[in-house]
Amino acid sequence: MPNKYHQIVLLIVLLLTLNNKAQANVLVLLAHPDDETWLSGSIAKLSQTQQVHLVYATSGGAGKDRTGLKRQGQTLAKARENESECAAKQLNAQAHFLKLDDKNLELYEVELIDQYQRLFEQIKPKLLITFAQDGITGHKDHIFIGNTVKKFWLTQTNSNSQLWQVVVSETRATIAQQIATQANYPQPIRKPVATDSINLTIKVREQHQPRVTAFACYPSQFPQGLQQIWQIFVAKTPYEEFIQVSR
Ligand SMILES: [Zn+2]
Repeated sequence: MPNKYHQIVLLIVLLLTLNNKAQANVLVLLAHPDDETWLSGSIAKLSQTQQVHLVYATSGGAGKDRTGLKRQGQTLAKARENESECAAKQLNAQAHFLKLDDKNLELYEVELIDQYQRLFEQIKPKLLITFAQDGITGHKDHIFIGNTVKKFWLTQTNSNSQLWQVVVSETRATIAQQIATQANYPQPIRKPVATDSINLTIKVREQHQPRVTAFACYPSQFPQGLQQIWQIFVAKTPYEEFIQVSR
């Protein structure tokens, strides 16, 4: 019965694939809604074969509303969560909000590590992604999250998970600078890393569309002028950069 045999083999392959997808989880640990922008192409690419979870420590309620609607506090935080949900949908990922205090995030290290432990046990990720030491923009919350995640990951000695840190090279920051200067916009990337320190580059040419549409989900953060700069930047840089950390 070759037909039946074929069907059984196909069924086994399908089950293995589904099982593999169910088990191969990725945790992306970030500070604010919109932080995933720096690796949106990689998220869209990874989510083709794995379940990607975006974890935001704060919901950005202490920030400024750039739409002109002047929303603040809880109202702004809710709007930003909705924007992240929109971006996550474009990238085929799942958003989680830890809702920690946006003004004083660094006071909540214990709570943050507890939450990471809970997610780690629940999701059993094969891969964690977060900020590197300078947090791309130098924002204190990015630096705090990057350091806390690395510290947490180093304690998970029984896990075979990997840690990637998202970065922008000096080469790519120069390209961003040229585009921003032409558009008369301030320098967007304050803390690039030396290009030769990068040990992992992911090609995301095929993810151009989700990179653009996920960015467009954030009117409270990115005004129209910045949307245009971003489109030029992603077209010119169809790749994203990481440092894979070794234990
Ligand atoms: Zn941020």
